[in-house]
Amino acid sequence: MRLHNSEAVDPTEAAYLRAVLEAYARQVPVLYVILTISAVTLAASHLRVAPLALAVAAPAVLIAICTLRIVTWARRRNRPMDYPAARRALRTANILGPVLGAGFLGWALALFQYSDPFLQAHVIFFCGFTVVSCIFCQLHARTAALGVTLAVVPALTLFLLTRGQPTLVAIGVNLALVSAAMVRMLFVHSRSFREMILGQLETKRLSDENYRLANLDSLTSLPNRRRFFARLDEAIENVGSRGRFVVGVIDLDGFKPINDLYGHIAGDKVLIEAGDRLAAAAGDDTFISRLGGDEFAVIFAGSVSDAEALGFAERMCAALQAPFALQGGSAKISASVGLVSSDQCGGSAKLLYERADYALYFAKGARRGHPVMFSAEHETAIRRFHAVEQALMSADIDREFSLNYQPIVDARTGKVGSLEALARWTSPTAGVVSPADFIPVAERSELINYITQALLRRALADAAAWPDHVGLSFNLSARDLSPEAMLGIIGLVRASGLDPKRLVFEITETAAMRDFALAESALNALHALGVGVALDDFGAGHSSLTYVRLLPLDEIKIDRGFILDIERDPTSRDITRSMVDLCRNLKLACVIEGVETETQRDILTGLGCRLMQGYLFSPPLKAEDIPLRLGDALLAA
Ligand code: C2E
Ligand code: CA
Ligand code: CA
Repeated sequence: MRLHNSEAVDPTEAAYLRAVLEAYARQVPVLYVILTISAVTLAASHLRVAPLALAVAAPAVLIAICTLRIVTWARRRNRPMDYPAARRALRTANILGPVLGAGFLGWALALFQYSDPFLQAHVIFFCGFTVVSCIFCQLHARTAALGVTLAVVPALTLFLLTRGQPTLVAIGVNLALVSAAMVRMLFVHSRSFREMILGQLETKRLSDENYRLANLDSLTSLPNRRRFFARLDEAIENVGSRGRFVVGVIDLDGFKPINDLYGHIAGDKVLIEAGDRLAAAAGDDTFISRLGGDEFAVIFAGSVSDAEALGFAERMCAALQAPFALQGGSAKISASVGLVSSDQCGGSAKLLYERADYALYFAKGARRGHPVMFSAEHETAIRRFHAVEQALMSADIDREFSLNYQPIVDARTGKVGSLEALARWTSPTAGVVSPADFIPVAERSELINYITQALLRRALADAAAWPDHVGLSFNLSARDLSPEAMLGIIGLVRASGLDPKRLVFEITETAAMRDFALAESALNALHALGVGVALDDFGAGHSSLTYVRLLPLDEIKIDRGFILDIERDPTSRDITRSMVDLCRNLKLACVIEGVETETQRDILTGLGCRLMQGYLFSPPLKAEDIPLRLGDALLAA
């Protein structure tokens, strides 16, 4: 039997009442069956001595009522009952119990006068037995048990005491004493029953609370990572019956600067609101969770098509683009979403998640601020990634890796100011692999630190052979900014004996953003060493001017993306001009990357740019080709 909770009812009381009713519903039919059988035997034993009204009619009426009660309680079993109905049922039982008890007693005592001593014993046994079984069967429902006892015992005792027969008097006294003891037991038992039920309720409450805590993200109150994967498993299991679904991994772009610059409280506020906005933008049948940090996940269920899921995800991205109000200002972020449909799952939640995550990685690179659906091309790229990973694991770094150098030129004089070292890898198994392919793979582990240091050692040695005024630019990865890796890098620079002023380390904007505090302390350490620091690929990532101002930088390298269509697109030209002006105002050197044509060079010179790098001036060169290919350009200006 279940109770619907209705309002204004103490849930503990409701649950207790439910427990009482459940126990009662189990016992009461037994009680009525015992009563019915006993009444039949008593009636039968008096059939020949008592009038028919007493031996047949009266018990028939009483037994009919008992049967009705058996049916009523049997039908109540496993049927939901609301709180008021449950209370009514118990109240009826409380009233009907004593009335029936009195009825049976009256009937039995009426038979007494027709009985011989044996039959009298049967009557007394029937009455006493009724009381005892009533109390036993109603131990959980104290009021009902007490009602029956009060309706039967005093009257029966009085009856026996007043018979003037010593044996009956003794039975009366016995009966009263046994009943008193039973009533005491009834009180003790019903109290401990109540305590047990309340204890069970508390245990259940605690375990519900534990379940809630284990499955909810405490900051946003959204389901957490554990719940997300459990839900994903459920979705995969039900894919046959409930149709396909689409999983999305959502990553906020530009959240870290808010945390770094405005503090964690502001960051938390943004995350909470982002969670709310995502939930509001999601359609029905959408499950949103926070995986951790600034990463959320979503499951679009209900047989959505790829196009529908992309539409929902686009709406979510748009919802996050509105500014977030913060104390003393507002902040803007965006979100990229990687999606994958259940058709691609191969039965594994892990695989689905990895593919969505890959689509997200792709979105961040190519379609930042928008959703991307995992596709066959992505599958090929992943295979390539794994192949590169395999080859890299077994690569002999010192033998298979080399360096090329690309000059950074003063476009007005044509003189080389410095050379940027660029890694090259020819693998015996994978062939020539572009750094754009192997650097991201190496960056996933500490292998990148080994590669960086092996190549830096070589670059420092090569640079020692160049004229003193020619500098060396060397690329660092985010993982190279850790204190341990920094120690190794600084040690190599010191040991090389190269004038630190000739050395510039390039760090991409994305690497600097990954952990602002770490980047800041690494750059400070490099500054203390006397080397320069350049922000690489500026404008390609999620730029934050605040970053540029806060980091100890000497140089900015403007990303090739802006130069690509500078000849045709006035907007690219305007953006480049404002970046060049920014460098001038901040007194930072400015290098333009990827200059390929003379027209580009002339436009850039017109915008006030001097330092340029690109195929127009020279492709990356082998160290031994530098003197031959650059010749005069290497001479001091
Ligand atoms: P990056 O640091 O932005 O390097 C410039 C890239 O642009 C180089 O590609 C270079 O060959 C290419 N490039 C130069 N001029 C032009 C041009 O006029 N047009 C075009 N289309 N491309 C031009 P590369 O050597 O393939 O390197 C790709 C990226 O790999 C680098 O981008 C850098 O982020 C990373 N990388 C290369 N070597 C290293 C390294 O030793 N350590 C680390 N951490 N990253 C490296
Ligand atoms: Ca670079
Ligand atoms: Ca660059």
